[in-house]
Amino acid sequence: MSKIMFLTRKAEFSASHVCANPALSEAENRALYGPNANPSGHGHNYVVEVTIEGTTDPTTGMVFDLRELKEIIHQEVVDPMDHRFLNHEVPPFDKVIPTTENLAAEIWRRLAGRITAPNARLKNVRLYETADLYVDCGGLDPGPEKRGTA
Ligand SMILES: [Zn+2]
Repeated sequence: MSKIMFLTRKAEFSASHVCANPALSEAENRALYGPNANPSGHGHNYVVEVTIEGTTDPTTGMVFDLRELKEIIHQEVVDPMDHRFLNHEVPPFDKVIPTTENLAAEIWRRLAGRITAPNARLKNVRLYETADLYVDCGGLDPGPEKRGTA
């Protein structure tokens, strides 16, 4: 009987962002996002933890190749985002407000299609914006009409 395993790999990147909704006034953005709305931006040392759920492959004893997972995280997240101003340099954050929630969802979107072993799937993306704040993304919501039936 194979057991369900959770395998987590961590990576770090530094990036800056502005959290502001262009449809709102500067005062409204400041009320909503506080200093995060400062138009000049500010930086974070983000930590991302990528968790894969799966069963161990009987031949290798592994859920997923850890070197491959490291490579995927670097290609999809660290290389394109490290030392970048997210709003100006990393789509879709020219159009999507780069809150921790939206950034975690984008990381999920980038990784889910790359983690496609028959015995394993992406389970969770945990993104720390600071040491005492993180967001978990466990998938993309199918929308109100499909929610609860999927
Ligand atoms: Zn911030």
